[in-house]
Amino acid sequence: MDILLKNAQIITLNDNDDVIPEGSIGIRDGRIDYTGEANRCLEAEYSKVIDCRGRTVMPGFVNAHNHLAMTMFRNYADDMKLMDWLFTKIFPMEDKLTDESVYWGSLLAMVEMIKSGTTTFADMYFFMESTARAVSESGMRAVLSRGLQGESGEEELDYRLRENDELFRKYHNSHNGRIKVMLAPHSVYTCSEAYLRKVAAKSLEQGIPVQIHLSESKEEVKTCVEKFGRSPVKYLEDLGLLNDRTVAAHCVAVDDADMDILASRKVNVVHNPGSNMKLASGAAPVFKMLSRGINVCLGTDGASSNNNLDMLEEMRLAAYLQKILADDPTVLPADTVMRMATSRGARALGFEGLGSIETGKAADMIVLNTEKAHYYPKYNIKSAIVYSGNSADVETVIIDGSLIMENGHLVTLDEERILYEAQKCALKLCTSGKDVRHEET
Ligand SMILES: [Zn+2]
Repeated sequence: MDILLKNAQIITLNDNDDVIPEGSIGIRDGRIDYTGEANRCLEAEYSKVIDCRGRTVMPGFVNAHNHLAMTMFRNYADDMKLMDWLFTKIFPMEDKLTDESVYWGSLLAMVEMIKSGTTTFADMYFFMESTARAVSESGMRAVLSRGLQGESGEEELDYRLRENDELFRKYHNSHNGRIKVMLAPHSVYTCSEAYLRKVAAKSLEQGIPVQIHLSESKEEVKTCVEKFGRSPVKYLEDLGLLNDRTVAAHCVAVDDADMDILASRKVNVVHNPGSNMKLASGAAPVFKMLSRGINVCLGTDGASSNNNLDMLEEMRLAAYLQKILADDPTVLPADTVMRMATSRGARALGFEGLGSIETGKAADMIVLNTEKAHYYPKYNIKSAIVYSGNSADVETVIIDGSLIMENGHLVTLDEERILYEAQKCALKLCTSGKDVRHEET
């Protein structure tokens, strides 16, 4: 489909940081083929013309750390400590997940993400074939990984790695490059050293990047130091898992030495302020990481520890949290946090040519209705979106040149059916089988 967006205020997020007060964007074959001042002659050249008067167009959000089907556990176990929450509530429930529940849970997450302006996400979870099928149907852009964890027998661990191999063979760079596959060892505290070494070797041999949870809490660091005599960051560096394609989620409990390693290895860090605050994991020193040149981007984490997948909210949380942490309101200004939620995330996930509105770039963008009271009076549109914007302002979503949502109506997904099926699956999960670990607590 070829589309022309006209009369739009455009936040390009290009190198010059241009904001076009009233312009047009032409889209053809999944790419942007015109960006600039309004040009009436263009209208005849596109089969679909969308009038964006009173609207603002910007690059779609990139949610760089998520576990989609954890929507199944949204509001299931709140107000708990990370390790307690994980080991007594979440892991036992995850043992009961099925292809069906992951499929509907993933679609539920995608409905929420599309409606709040996310166009790309990274997911590490289980039954990823089901998620891949859901991505294919939704039209979203994604990085998928089969979650790898375990201290148990070699056979079981190898089986999980083989599942990721299969996912890679079937889906990597599929759907016009919309889907990529990475390796995802869960963390240093859920994977044995031998397993992490195996993943590192595979990553190196086959050139597959790694995404992992890293230094999420003080407790994780303490245990790692006791066990291996090093911080989780140093430990992963020694295992050969840190490089410029590594995506490390959280990095909350990192000291200067850790940040120096992350900077020298050019690791991409995903900040998840909502999840970190809710689990009281702490505040990642994002402003220090940015000043070291580390590519820090933004994620929501799963819907069970956030409890939504709203990147507009995440931007605001990120900005507020850093200002408190630094005791300085000048850190993480609106422009920086907007780039963390878009272009920096695209770079972290290896989607080159994404994250800005420029001719030749991939056509992933969102249209926000900025003709609402909370955008008035109009001064700085980026500040307005970050500090006053609301995900309900997102009206239209275009991914890879296709209309995924138009005027608030999902084009590719049946929202009503997805909510119904997701609720049915959640009920099944809560009532199926006796969960011993869960009952004991
Ligand atoms: Zn996570």
